[in-house]
Amino acid sequence: MNISVESFGGADTVTGSCHLIKIEQENYLIDSGLFQGADLKLHKNISNLPFEILSIEAIILTHAHLDHCGLLPLYAKKGYSKPIYATEATKDLAAIILTDSAKIQQGNANSHNKKTNKKSQHVEPLYRHADVERVLNLIKVVEPHEINHHKNLKFRLFPAGHIPGAVSASLEVADQKILFSGDLGRDDDQIMRPPVIEGGHDCIFIESTYGGHQHVSGEVEKLLPQMLKHIIKTGCVLLIPAFTVARSQMLVKLFHDFFEKNPQLKVPIFMDSPMGLKVNKVFEKHHEWLKLTKEEYNTAFTDVTEVDEKWEADKLESFPEAHIILTSSGMMTGGKVLKHFSRLALDKDNIVFLPGYMGEDTLGNRLASGEREFSYEQESIKVNCQIIQTHQLSAHADQKQLSKWLEIAANSKERTSIFLIHGENEEKEKFIIYLNELGFKKVEKMNYRKAVQISV
Ligand SMILES: [Zn+2]
Repeated sequence: MNISVESFGGADTVTGSCHLIKIEQENYLIDSGLFQGADLKLHKNISNLPFEILSIEAIILTHAHLDHCGLLPLYAKKGYSKPIYATEATKDLAAIILTDSAKIQQGNANSHNKKTNKKSQHVEPLYRHADVERVLNLIKVVEPHEINHHKNLKFRLFPAGHIPGAVSASLEVADQKILFSGDLGRDDDQIMRPPVIEGGHDCIFIESTYGGHQHVSGEVEKLLPQMLKHIIKTGCVLLIPAFTVARSQMLVKLFHDFFEKNPQLKVPIFMDSPMGLKVNKVFEKHHEWLKLTKEEYNTAFTDVTEVDEKWEADKLESFPEAHIILTSSGMMTGGKVLKHFSRLALDKDNIVFLPGYMGEDTLGNRLASGEREFSYEQESIKVNCQIIQTHQLSAHADQKQLSKWLEIAANSKERTSIFLIHGENEEKEKFIIYLNELGFKKVEKMNYRKAVQISV
């Protein structure tokens, strides 16, 4: 049987995941994400798709992060009406994330159109809210581990850790077992269960975000007491920009556990993120994906004051004691964090804690690199506050954890073909060397729009 795979994103980049599988005359997609951050320089999110969307039989969605699901509403806009297979938690999270994305697309189009007087240069948003509703109706909920069929394709989804609902997709076609990792979580995540996988795969497409690295440990344990002692002494603020899905919830649990052991360092936590508050509820609903019970999850949140319409964000400005503000966006590219930062940046005793990787061309990245000025609403603001970053809190598996997963998943170290996707070039190069040393013989990088033949 003729089977090939071609990547239209998430091959030479870490965003825009989109992989097309051709099985004889049937076409399937694994994920369809938006390009974000620095990847936008390489590939624009444009409405001209590089393949015929109406030729797609079905889509498997590994998880609800925007770089994996963010293009789906465009397909609905273009008339796609076939199934999108995903878990229930992914469907619930995608509803929040895609609704927010449609708002951003509309906002981008409006601000572009405002700047240009010529109607002929006006642009349409990539998609609208109605397209999001259409695409959510196409999602067919499937349970992890269960066997599913779609024409010539037989597939099973395995929990991948990372965020609730995230899965790896194992496909069986004729005598071939093909595996797409999706984004893999860590074995030692604060709140997510570790990834699960079965063996016997002949061909594996694995993410390699941290293929060249091993996570550091112990750094956060040292930083937390230092930062908290400092803000308590000075009565200042610890501002934390955090991704709304998983990172925010993980930080809440991290602080809860820390405060239990160190009650003298306990300070109030305010969560100022409307989207984050919605996501918290999905985590609670789908707590089976967490390694916490529902009670443990809810107990951690008793430390948190939700900032919403009932508790106005402005009141935080006059809050008299040391406190933590947990807000978004995670890399300080927009959202409520900018307003908080603009009023806190000048005071040398406030701290901004960057809890992870900051993408190129983001304010978080510029601050981490030492930039000490930024502009907000046409005003230039000096940055005197402390900027502290850690790489310890990633929701991705590291080199060791990825290879451990591969050792279980592969049919044989000699015969299984491994294609590295979703990672920067340097990470992939290091990962290839590491895997070769472990005895994996057939490892290569997946290239953008360069189809690989799985079997003939
Ligand atoms: Zn992800």
